[in-house]
Amino acid sequence: MNLLVWDFDGTLGYCDGLWSGVFAHLLATELPGLIVDREQIADALQTGFPWHDPHLPHTHLVTADDWWSSLDEVLRNAFASLGVPPDRCPDLAALVRPYYCSQHRWQLFPDTIACLDQLSAAGWRHIVLSNHVPELPQIIAGLGIHDRFDRIVNSAVTGYEKPHPLAFAKAIEGLPEIERHWMIGDSFTADFEGAVQAGWPAILVRRHHDTASPFFDSLEQLPAFLNATG
Ligand SMILES: [Mg+2]
Repeated sequence: MNLLVWDFDGTLGYCDGLWSGVFAHLLATELPGLIVDREQIADALQTGFPWHDPHLPHTHLVTADDWWSSLDEVLRNAFASLGVPPDRCPDLAALVRPYYCSQHRWQLFPDTIACLDQLSAAGWRHIVLSNHVPELPQIIAGLGIHDRFDRIVNSAVTGYEKPHPLAFAKAIEGLPEIERHWMIGDSFTADFEGAVQAGWPAILVRRHHDTASPFFDSLEQLPAFLNATG
Protein backbone atom coordinates (compact mmCIF):
# COMPACT_ATOMS: atom_id res chain seq x y z
CA MET A 1 0.00 0.00 0.00
CA ASN A 2 0.94 3.62 -0.50
CA LEU A 3 0.38 5.37 2.79
CA LEU A 4 0.18 8.97 3.99
CA VAL A 5 0.46 9.51 7.75
CA TRP A 6 -1.06 12.84 8.75
CA ASP A 7 -0.65 14.96 11.84
CA PHE A 8 -3.99 16.49 12.83
CA ASP A 9 -3.71 19.82 14.74
CA GLY A 10 -2.27 22.54 12.56
CA THR A 11 -2.11 20.19 9.55
CA LEU A 12 -5.63 18.95 8.71
CA GLY A 13 -7.62 20.94 11.27
CA TYR A 14 -7.34 23.45 14.07
CA CYS A 15 -9.14 25.02 16.98
CA ASP A 16 -8.97 28.63 18.00
CA GLY A 17 -6.31 29.20 20.63
CA LEU A 18 -5.74 25.54 21.55
CA TRP A 19 -5.24 25.20 25.33
CA SER A 20 -4.70 28.93 25.88
CA GLY A 21 -8.04 29.55 24.18
CA VAL A 22 -9.77 27.16 26.58
CA PHE A 23 -8.21 28.84 29.60
CA ALA A 24 -9.03 32.34 28.30
CA HIS A 25 -12.66 31.34 27.72
CA LEU A 26 -13.10 29.68 31.12
CA LEU A 27 -11.47 32.57 33.00
CA ALA A 28 -13.59 35.14 31.15
CA THR A 29 -16.85 33.28 31.79
CA GLU A 30 -16.20 31.94 35.30
CA LEU A 31 -14.10 34.74 36.82
CA PRO A 32 -14.79 37.85 34.71
CA GLY A 33 -13.15 40.14 37.30
CA LEU A 34 -9.76 38.44 36.93
CA ILE A 35 -7.68 40.15 34.25
CA VAL A 36 -5.18 37.77 32.63
CA ASP A 37 -3.67 38.18 29.17
CA ARG A 38 -2.99 35.45 26.64
CA GLU A 39 0.77 35.65 27.13
CA GLN A 40 0.42 34.89 30.86
CA ILE A 41 -1.87 31.97 30.03
CA ALA A 42 0.56 30.58 27.45
CA ASP A 43 3.39 30.84 30.01
CA ALA A 44 1.31 28.90 32.56
CA LEU A 45 0.81 26.05 30.07
CA GLN A 46 4.42 25.43 29.07
CA THR A 47 4.95 22.24 31.08
CA GLY A 48 3.17 19.18 32.40
CA PHE A 49 1.24 18.08 29.31
CA PRO A 50 2.20 14.64 27.93
CA TRP A 51 3.65 16.10 24.71
CA HIS A 52 6.03 18.31 26.69
CA ASP A 53 7.92 15.16 27.72
CA PRO A 54 7.77 12.91 24.65
CA HIS A 55 10.68 10.79 25.93
CA LEU A 56 8.39 9.59 28.76
CA PRO A 57 5.82 7.01 27.57
CA HIS A 58 2.48 6.97 29.43
CA THR A 59 1.25 3.49 28.57
CA HIS A 60 -0.08 3.15 32.15
CA LEU A 61 -2.91 5.58 31.31
CA VAL A 62 -5.40 3.13 29.84
CA THR A 63 -8.75 4.92 29.72
CA ALA A 64 -9.75 8.44 28.69
CA ASP A 65 -10.63 9.14 32.32
CA ASP A 66 -7.13 8.01 33.39
CA TRP A 67 -5.61 10.39 30.84
CA TRP A 68 -7.61 13.39 32.00
CA SER A 69 -7.11 12.52 35.70
CA SER A 70 -3.35 12.51 35.15
CA LEU A 71 -3.63 16.07 33.80
CA ASP A 72 -5.85 17.38 36.59
CA GLU A 73 -3.08 18.62 38.87
CA VAL A 74 -1.34 20.35 35.93
CA LEU A 75 -4.57 22.18 35.06
CA ARG A 76 -5.32 23.13 38.69
CA ASN A 77 -1.78 24.44 39.20
CA ALA A 78 -1.97 26.44 35.97
CA PHE A 79 -5.20 28.13 37.11
CA ALA A 80 -3.67 28.81 40.54
CA SER A 81 -0.57 30.38 38.95
CA LEU A 82 -2.88 32.75 37.04
CA GLY A 83 -4.43 34.05 40.26
CA VAL A 84 -7.52 31.84 40.47
CA PRO A 85 -8.52 31.39 44.16
CA PRO A 86 -7.56 27.91 45.43
CA ASP A 87 -11.17 26.89 46.08
CA ARG A 88 -12.12 27.56 42.44
CA CYS A 89 -9.18 25.75 40.77
CA PRO A 90 -10.72 22.22 40.91
CA ASP A 91 -14.01 23.46 39.35
CA LEU A 92 -12.25 25.27 36.55
CA ALA A 93 -9.93 22.32 35.88
CA ALA A 94 -13.01 20.07 35.59
CA LEU A 95 -14.46 22.37 32.91
CA VAL A 96 -11.39 22.08 30.64
CA ARG A 97 -12.23 18.63 29.23
CA PRO A 98 -15.79 19.35 28.02
CA TYR A 99 -14.84 22.75 26.64
CA TYR A 100 -11.65 21.55 24.93
CA CYS A 101 -13.63 18.80 23.19
CA SER A 102 -16.61 21.01 22.19
CA GLN A 103 -17.19 20.32 18.54
CA HIS A 104 -17.91 23.96 17.67
CA ARG A 105 -14.29 24.88 18.45
CA TRP A 106 -12.83 22.62 15.73
CA GLN A 107 -12.47 23.41 12.03
CA LEU A 108 -10.83 21.94 8.96
CA PHE A 109 -8.45 24.00 6.85
CA PRO A 110 -10.12 24.95 3.55
CA ASP A 111 -7.71 22.79 1.50
CA THR A 112 -7.95 19.62 3.64
CA ILE A 113 -10.81 17.66 2.05
CA ALA A 114 -9.81 18.36 -1.56
CA CYS A 115 -6.23 17.25 -0.85
CA LEU A 116 -7.26 14.02 0.91
CA ASP A 117 -9.72 13.16 -1.85
CA GLN A 118 -7.33 13.88 -4.72
CA LEU A 119 -4.72 11.67 -3.09
CA SER A 120 -7.26 8.90 -2.38
CA ALA A 121 -8.26 8.98 -6.04
CA ALA A 122 -4.59 8.50 -6.92
CA GLY A 123 -4.42 5.35 -4.75
CA TRP A 124 -2.99 6.70 -1.48
CA ARG A 125 -4.39 5.47 1.84
CA HIS A 126 -4.57 7.86 4.79
CA ILE A 127 -4.04 7.49 8.52
CA VAL A 128 -3.79 10.08 11.31
CA LEU A 129 -0.91 10.08 13.81
CA SER A 130 -1.49 12.72 16.45
CA ASN A 131 -0.39 13.82 19.91
CA HIS A 132 -3.85 14.56 21.23
CA VAL A 133 -6.57 14.18 23.83
CA PRO A 134 -8.41 10.83 23.98
CA GLU A 135 -11.46 12.30 22.25
CA LEU A 136 -9.63 12.89 18.92
CA PRO A 137 -11.65 10.25 17.00
CA GLN A 138 -14.92 11.92 18.03
CA ILE A 139 -13.52 15.34 17.02
CA ILE A 140 -12.53 13.99 13.59
CA ALA A 141 -15.92 12.28 13.22
CA GLY A 142 -17.63 15.55 14.11
CA LEU A 143 -15.72 17.22 11.28
CA GLY A 144 -17.11 14.60 8.89
CA ILE A 145 -13.79 13.21 7.63
CA HIS A 146 -13.36 10.04 9.72
CA ASP A 147 -14.24 7.70 6.85
CA ARG A 148 -11.26 8.98 4.87
CA PHE A 149 -8.81 7.34 7.31
CA ASP A 150 -7.89 3.66 7.67
CA ARG A 151 -7.00 4.34 11.30
CA ILE A 152 -6.56 7.17 13.79
CA VAL A 153 -3.47 6.61 15.93
CA ASN A 154 -3.53 8.80 19.01
CA SER A 155 -0.78 9.27 21.61
CA ALA A 156 -3.45 9.36 24.33
CA VAL A 157 -4.17 5.71 23.44
CA THR A 158 -0.74 4.34 22.44
CA GLY A 159 1.11 6.11 25.28
CA TYR A 160 3.83 7.42 22.91
CA GLU A 161 4.04 11.08 21.90
CA LYS A 162 5.73 12.11 18.67
CA PRO A 163 8.69 12.43 18.20
CA HIS A 164 9.19 9.21 20.24
CA PRO A 165 10.22 6.55 17.67
CA LEU A 166 7.61 4.11 19.00
CA ALA A 167 4.85 6.62 18.17
CA PHE A 168 5.76 6.09 14.50
CA ALA A 169 6.21 2.33 14.83
CA LYS A 170 2.77 1.98 16.49
CA ALA A 171 1.14 3.94 13.69
CA ILE A 172 1.88 1.32 11.03
CA GLU A 173 1.86 -1.80 13.23
CA GLY A 174 -0.09 -4.62 11.58
CA LEU A 175 -0.68 -2.84 8.29
CA PRO A 176 -0.25 -4.68 4.99
CA GLU A 177 3.08 -4.29 3.23
CA ILE A 178 3.87 -0.62 2.68
CA GLU A 179 5.48 0.32 -0.63
CA ARG A 180 5.71 4.07 -0.11
CA HIS A 181 4.87 6.19 2.90
CA TRP A 182 5.28 9.77 4.09
CA MET A 183 4.70 11.62 7.35
CA ILE A 184 3.03 14.99 6.77
CA GLY A 185 2.75 17.57 9.53
CA ASP A 186 3.24 21.15 10.66
CA SER A 187 5.64 20.54 13.57
CA PHE A 188 9.32 20.44 12.69
CA THR A 189 10.25 18.61 15.90
CA ALA A 190 7.34 16.22 16.39
CA ASP A 191 6.41 15.43 12.79
CA PHE A 192 9.32 16.15 10.45
CA GLU A 193 12.36 15.45 12.61
CA GLY A 194 10.62 12.65 14.52
CA ALA A 195 9.70 10.87 11.29
CA VAL A 196 13.17 11.26 9.82
CA GLN A 197 14.72 9.85 13.00
CA ALA A 198 12.32 6.90 12.72
CA GLY A 199 13.56 6.33 9.17
CA TRP A 200 10.51 7.75 7.42
CA PRO A 201 10.43 10.35 4.66
CA ALA A 202 8.59 13.48 5.83
CA ILE A 203 7.01 16.64 4.47
CA LEU A 204 6.65 19.79 6.55
CA VAL A 205 3.53 21.84 5.86
CA ARG A 206 2.09 25.23 6.86
CA ARG A 207 4.88 26.29 9.31
CA HIS A 208 8.26 26.86 7.69
CA HIS A 209 11.54 25.71 9.22
CA ASP A 210 14.90 26.57 7.68
CA THR A 211 16.23 23.02 7.64
CA ALA A 212 13.09 21.11 6.57
CA SER A 213 12.64 20.11 2.95
CA PRO A 214 10.27 19.42 1.28
CA PHE A 215 8.04 22.16 2.69
CA PHE A 216 4.68 23.38 1.40
CA ASP A 217 2.80 26.32 2.86
CA SER A 218 -0.58 24.72 2.08
CA LEU A 219 -1.85 21.26 1.16
CA GLU A 220 -2.72 22.35 -2.38
CA GLN A 221 0.66 21.42 -3.87
CA LEU A 222 0.84 18.01 -2.17
CA PRO A 223 -1.06 15.85 -4.70
CA ALA A 224 1.16 16.93 -7.59
CA PHE A 225 4.31 16.45 -5.51
CA LEU A 226 3.36 13.04 -4.10
CA ASN A 227 2.02 11.66 -7.35
CA ALA A 228 5.33 12.57 -8.99
CA THR A 229 7.29 10.56 -6.39
CA GLY A 230 6.23 7.15 -7.56
MG1 LIG B 1 0.42 19.74 14.47
